[in-house]
Amino acid sequence: MSGKIKMNTPLVEMDGDEMTRVIWAWVKEILLDPFVELKTEYFDLGLPERERTKDGITTGAAEAIKQYGVGVKCATITPNEERVKEYNLTEMYKSPNGTIRALLDGTVFRAPILAKGVVPYIPTWKRPITIARHAYGDIYRNTESPCEIGAKAELVVTAPDGSEKRLSIYSFDGSGGVVQGVHNTDASIESFAHACMNYAASTKQDLWFAAKDTISKTYDRRFRDIFEGVFAAEYKEKFDEAGIAYSYTLIDDAIARVIRSKGGFIWACKNYDGDVMSDMVATAFGSLAMMTSVLVSPQGCYEYEAAHGTVQRHYYKHAGGEQTSTNSVATVFAWTGALKKRAELDTLPRLADFAAKVELAVLETIGAGLMTGDLYAISTLANKEQVNTETFLLEAAQRLHAYMR
Ligand code: NAP
Ligand code: MG
Repeated sequence: MSGKIKMNTPLVEMDGDEMTRVIWAWVKEILLDPFVELKTEYFDLGLPERERTKDGITTGAAEAIKQYGVGVKCATITPNEERVKEYNLTEMYKSPNGTIRALLDGTVFRAPILAKGVVPYIPTWKRPITIARHAYGDIYRNTESPCEIGAKAELVVTAPDGSEKRLSIYSFDGSGGVVQGVHNTDASIESFAHACMNYAASTKQDLWFAAKDTISKTYDRRFRDIFEGVFAAEYKEKFDEAGIAYSYTLIDDAIARVIRSKGGFIWACKNYDGDVMSDMVATAFGSLAMMTSVLVSPQGCYEYEAAHGTVQRHYYKHAGGEQTSTNSVATVFAWTGALKKRAELDTLPRLADFAAKVELAVLETIGAGLMTGDLYAISTLANKEQVNTETFLLEAAQRLHAYMR
C-alpha cells in the first residue's frame, strides 16, 4: 500500500457520550487511523461540551453538515431530570438529533445490518428493509380534547379572508368521548417525498409508499398525490435509468407484502407507521445494535449514525473498570457509510474500497463466530464465542490488515 488514504473534503465528526464515546475513539484508533488520513471537522456533542457552549456546539455541527454535505455522529444523551443532576446541567437541553433534524429538515432512513448467523425472524428476508419515517406532524403535533355528553365537535377552518368552513365531527349525544385534530403541510410532505426518492435513486432500491387513502380520502390522499406528483415531475426518468420502481399501495397491503418480501427496498412511512414499523423491522431482523440510521436532507446532505443510544448500563460497568461486550457494528457502519458517501461525492475510489473492506472485516469476524454478547445470545452459529468490546474490534482489524496488504 502506498501510504495512507487521503481525503479532500472534511467529514463533520460529532463525538458523543458514554459507552458509544468510548467505542468511537476505539473505532478510529483501531480500524480507521492506521489506513486513512482522516480529515474531519470535529464537534464534541458530549454533554459537558453542550453545557459549556449552551448547546451552541450542536447548531454549529448542523451548520457544518450543511456546508460540507456529510457528517457522522456518535450517540448522545438526551437529558432528562436525572441527567441534569448527573451532569450538573444549567438547562435540560433538547435532543441533539432533534435539533440537527430540524435544521436540516431531514428524513431518517433506518436499515439493519445483516450478518451470518443472525437470522431474521422472517425467513424470506434476505436483504435489508430500509424504513423512511416522515418526522413531522400527524398525531405527533395533535390537539385533542375530552368531550362531555351533549358536546358537539366541529372542524373549523378559517380562510385568510376570514370566511369559515365548519364540518361536523361528531355529536356526543349518548356518551362522552374524545376528539383530536391533526395536520400536515404540503411543504413537509414534498420534502419527505424528495428525500425518499433521492435516497432510493442513490442506493438503487425500489421505493414503496403506503397510506390509507381509501378511508382518509382527503388527508392521506394528499400524501399519495404529492408523492405521485413529485415522482412524475422529477424522478421518473432517474428511476427508469437506475432500473428501480416507485409504487404506492394501501398500508395493510404494504404490511402483507413486506412480510412476504425478500427485502432490498425502501419503505416510506407516514409518521406513526414509521414509528411503529421501524421497531417491528429492527426486532424482526435480530438486534437494535445492528441498525444503522442516516438523515438525508432535501438538499442532499447526509448524516450517518447508529440507531441505538449511548448504552448507559454498559458504560457504568466500563467506568467501574469492568470489561463490557458492547456491539460496535452500527457505529462502525456509521463511519463507513459516511466515508463511502464522501468517497462518492469527491470521487475517491481508494476510500470507497477501504470502507467496503472495513464492513467486510467486521461481518467476517461475526461470521467466523467472534461476537459481542448481544449477538452471541441470538446467533445460530455452532462455533461461537463471546468477546469483549475491544477484542472484537482488534479481531476485525486483523482481517482488515490482511485485506489491505
Ligand atoms: P440504548 O443506549 O440504545 O440501550 C438500550 C439497551 O439496548 C442497552 O442497555 C443494551 O441492553 C442494548 N443495546 C443497545 N445498543 C447496544 C449495543 N451497541 N451493544 C449491546 N447492547 C446494546 O438506549 P437507552 O439505554 O434507552 O438510552 C441510553 C441513552 O442514550 C439515553 O441517555 C438516551 O437519551 C440516549 N439515546 C441516544 C440516541 C442517539 O443519540 N441517537 C438514541 C437513543 C437513545 P442490555 O443493557 O440488556 O445489554
Ligand atoms: Mg417507535
